[in-house]
Amino acid sequence: QMKSEGRNGYQTFTDDMASASTRKRQLEAGLNHALTLNEMELVYQPQISLKSGRVTGVEALLRWRSGKLGLVAPNEFIPLAEESGMIVPIGEWVLKTACREGRALQLEMGRALTIAVNISPRQFQQDALPKTVRETLEENELDPASLELEITENILVSDSPKAMTILEKVRSLGVRVAIDDFGTGFSSMSYIMRFRVDRLKIDQSFVRDMAVNEDSLAVTSAVIALAAGLHITVVAEGVESEAHRDLLASKGCDEAQGYFYSAPVPIERMRELIRGLEVSIESLAGGLGGVG
Ligand code: C2E
Ligand code: MG
Ligand code: MG
Ligand code: MG
Repeated sequence: QMKSEGRNGYQTFTDDMASASTRKRQLEAGLNHALTLNEMELVYQPQISLKSGRVTGVEALLRWRSGKLGLVAPNEFIPLAEESGMIVPIGEWVLKTACREGRALQLEMGRALTIAVNISPRQFQQDALPKTVRETLEENELDPASLELEITENILVSDSPKAMTILEKVRSLGVRVAIDDFGTGFSSMSYIMRFRVDRLKIDQSFVRDMAVNEDSLAVTSAVIALAAGLHITVVAEGVESEAHRDLLASKGCDEAQGYFYSAPVPIERMRELIRGLEVSIESLAGGLGGVG
């Protein structure tokens, strides 16, 4: 069936390939029942203002705790769900759950934290998406400006008229749109300018390497400058150290997200986490007393 590079012109299935395809079939089968079996959950990672030190919002990240396969990483199952179309119901569950849990967190904290939700390309081809978003906001009495949809550059590059219409519709609701993993896709400046997004997220690969690789530092600085020029905010992903934070702050980056602050945590732990992250700035401000 499959063509190959093999001498006889046919694919020779090695054990590795056979087990990879078995794994794929198991994952696909499992994904079909993951929602009904209640195996999906969200964890949240805070985004921190580099200017004020305050937590500005949280990103919802999906976790699949499969009864049969154990914990499966999103990088493994999201592409399969995308391929099979299961990402559509799963993505809708993510949106609804993040809005509900995020709204509860806002009420608990008494402030308008942003809730960022990842939206896959396939979801962005669904005519029903703007309506689903609007209804979800209404159901949860969530301010549209508190919801941020993270999309990838390639959705813009696809130049699909449908995706463009959907983008316009969600933005007209007052929902924010961020470009995730910025710098790794195939978009150009002209796309970013045409589609008027609200935020850019610098991909973690640039942040990871910027201290040791001049090119990564150049890309990071250029994205920060681009965002400033377009009057939109820029968030650095994968901030793992004080050195990362200080370098980004010195370049004028608005916000940061990464293990340096916290790994993603269940929503129940977020309140305490935010308090802890902000105590350090409060005590610093207190320590400085009347200065300034
Ligand atoms: P992403 O949206 O770019 O999310 C950032 C990823 O980096 C997350 O991985 C996060 O846990 C991880 N991360 C955060 N801080 C650090 C750090 O300091 N260092 C490093 N090395 N990594 C860090 P995660 O949760 O495994 O998600 C991976 C990807 O899966 C996400 O990348 C996103 O593209 C996708 N994904 C996750 N949840 C959803 C979802 O609900 N819907 C869709 N469509 N995609 C999702
Ligand atoms: Mg994201
Ligand atoms: Mg990213
Ligand atoms: Mg990613």
